[in-house]
Amino acid sequence: MNQHGYTILKDKFGYTTLRPAQEPVIESILARRDTVAIMPTGGGKSLCFQLPALIQDGLTVVISPLIALMHDQVESLKENGIWAEYLNSSLEDTTRNLVIDAIETHNPYNHETEKLQLLYISPEKLLSNDQYMLNYFKSINISLFAIDEAHCISSWGHDFRPEYSNLGVLKKEFPHVPTIALTATADELTRQDIVDRLMLNQPNVFVSSFDRPNITYNIEAKKDGFNQLFNFITARKDQAGIIYCLSRKSTEELAERLVRNNIKAVCYHAKLSKEDKDKAYSDFMKDKVQVVVATIAFGMGIDKPNVRYVIHWNLPKSIEGYYQETGRAGRDGLPSEAYLLYNVSDVFALKKFIDSGQEDNPYIPAKEVEEFRRIQHNKLNSLLEFCQTGHCRRRVLLQYFNEKQENNCNNCDSCLHPKSKIDGSIIAQKIISTVYKTNQRFGANYLTDILLGAKDPRISANGHDKISTYGIGTELKKNQWIFYINQLIDLGFLTIKYDKFIKTIALDQSSIDFIKNATEVNLFEMIDNKPVKPVKLKTASLRELSTTQTDLYGILKTIRTQIAEDQNVPPYIIFSDATLIEMVQVLPITVDQFSTISGVGKMKLSNFGPTFVRAIEDFCDENPDLEPTSQTSPLPKEESNKSDTVTSTKEYLQAGKTIQEIAKIRKLSLGTITQHMIKLYENDQISTEIVEIQKERKLNTIINTEREKGINYMMLSQWKNHIEGEYNMVVDYNDLRICLL
Ligand code: ADP
Ligand code: ZN
Repeated sequence: MNQHGYTILKDKFGYTTLRPAQEPVIESILARRDTVAIMPTGGGKSLCFQLPALIQDGLTVVISPLIALMHDQVESLKENGIWAEYLNSSLEDTTRNLVIDAIETHNPYNHETEKLQLLYISPEKLLSNDQYMLNYFKSINISLFAIDEAHCISSWGHDFRPEYSNLGVLKKEFPHVPTIALTATADELTRQDIVDRLMLNQPNVFVSSFDRPNITYNIEAKKDGFNQLFNFITARKDQAGIIYCLSRKSTEELAERLVRNNIKAVCYHAKLSKEDKDKAYSDFMKDKVQVVVATIAFGMGIDKPNVRYVIHWNLPKSIEGYYQETGRAGRDGLPSEAYLLYNVSDVFALKKFIDSGQEDNPYIPAKEVEEFRRIQHNKLNSLLEFCQTGHCRRRVLLQYFNEKQENNCNNCDSCLHPKSKIDGSIIAQKIISTVYKTNQRFGANYLTDILLGAKDPRISANGHDKISTYGIGTELKKNQWIFYINQLIDLGFLTIKYDKFIKTIALDQSSIDFIKNATEVNLFEMIDNKPVKPVKLKTASLRELSTTQTDLYGILKTIRTQIAEDQNVPPYIIFSDATLIEMVQVLPITVDQFSTISGVGKMKLSNFGPTFVRAIEDFCDENPDLEPTSQTSPLPKEESNKSDTVTSTKEYLQAGKTIQEIAKIRKLSLGTITQHMIKLYENDQISTEIVEIQKERKLNTIINTEREKGINYMMLSQWKNHIEGEYNMVVDYNDLRICLL
């Protein structure tokens, strides 16, 4: 990429370098080749098409399946001073017309110099009404089609979306416009499907490593579960996390218990009402709650980059699931953690689940149900092996995705607290003979009770207090015996049999060989799990900050939250955690110095720079032990109050502009301007007349009519549903908000 590209990268995104995986992808697009980019979550896929969109003439059209993601990305681009819009079914007519006007800037007869740079559109919108939009695009100059979450096109994938399957039409209608498909799904079948179905023309395919080096993996047996969880969370004060549970009920119970223990937690599952879901999601995005306790329904579409940890309270269903779920931590590249607490009873529950379901699964033909179950059992077994391994977790994980790693990672519990191996021959003999002498009819608990010589009426009734292994295992504790029994199962010395739904442990040919030949077995020693020590990584991290630095970080975070609230966007859209940490380390006390921080482009520099610089300077004055980077002339005092975004909206309103016009002029979303207006109205800074002017006439009349009929809802969404149902129209939340003011 040439110097011009790098200038745009710094001016607009605030970055000075591309990541190694981004560079070839961007080069390929600039060479106008069809391209497939497969990168893990957090790899930086968006920049791969956003930067070319700014370098090339013409409009970049981004096809994206999720409305929430579209909205966030567009907001985020606008904060960087990039003109982007989106079109999907959630938009109201007036807004849609504005977006169409924006697209019109690319009409060859239109001589406006400022042009829309990126248009996000849902596949439905693109292909609806006899492909009206698609035909319309033929009249304008399109530089690139970017297809985000491209795995949705493949019926092999886990997230097939029928609307995606017709996107092949793009290549047919626009053979000369390059297309880039992006996904984080690695498997070969899906990859081929993407190329075929999009009818890509000899694409360059780039697959980056699936390693997520900033995630520390840690897996522990669940002992006093809640305490393990609670200690983990409280040691990570104010850090955002997700806890995954197996059932809806357990998300509710666990969230409640955390709340009782003063942790800001909410639950999230598929059965919540739309409002509750939206609220949980938005509070989490805006850092208003710390922890979401969720089923995997809380999945795709979580674009929060500063999730610092993902906890599995139950076993996930497979290694793929584990990788995907833990992958939601640390999208911003800062050190993050994956913590799994597992319990052998989860395995029973999952196995039972596999064996009982699927008969009525419409996607699986009846004759394939058995095969499907077998595959699910295998996946679960691989996961269990992964949990119980003493080897480097990262190596095992990547190996599963056919990616070899030469060295241990030094950033997982196996590497950090290696389990030592012991000669387990005697242990194995004791266990295996107990299984043999009780006729392979019992589970791990019962077998352990025999070894420990427990006084249990069931044991004596069965006469098992008379067998030779009764009471010969008092040197170990119960949980140790269970741990070793599981290892013997892993190693194939014992197997699991199901007698109806009772799980029993049985012998296998290898156990018989073992007893006959008295072979030696090595087992991982069970050591008491120590609390996880945070790991040091090369990347800057919160943990490396001193107490004073942490204080400053807190102040900067508060400023970020205030600005974000003003603009009605999530805080990370203002600045990422990484950018704040760099500010704390570099301590810029002039706007010039501030401009060197990664993530600070021109727009953010002028909008937020003075405020942050002022805060840093004040803090340095009060804390002389902190050394700013250099002593160049500090900022003149007035500058810090320069950008009051709400005031600016007020001025436009008073000049008689509509909120749609203001949004367009200021390149902010309608939502942001609406919020400004509501704030101004509530603080008596604008007159009622101004609000009245803004009210959408039609909607207003409808609401008045409905109110006369006695309808009076509390929630916006109730109004929206009601009006949409009664009047067969799409209602925009922003208009509704204003009409109800
Ligand atoms: P993905 O879509 O692949 O999950 P994103 O596009 O959300 O990843 O990017 C992840 C994070 O990395 C974002 O916070 C983004 O700002 C940051 N990022 C992307 N490219 C760069 C870069 N070249 N330099 C610094 N940070 C980057
Ligand atoms: Zn490791």
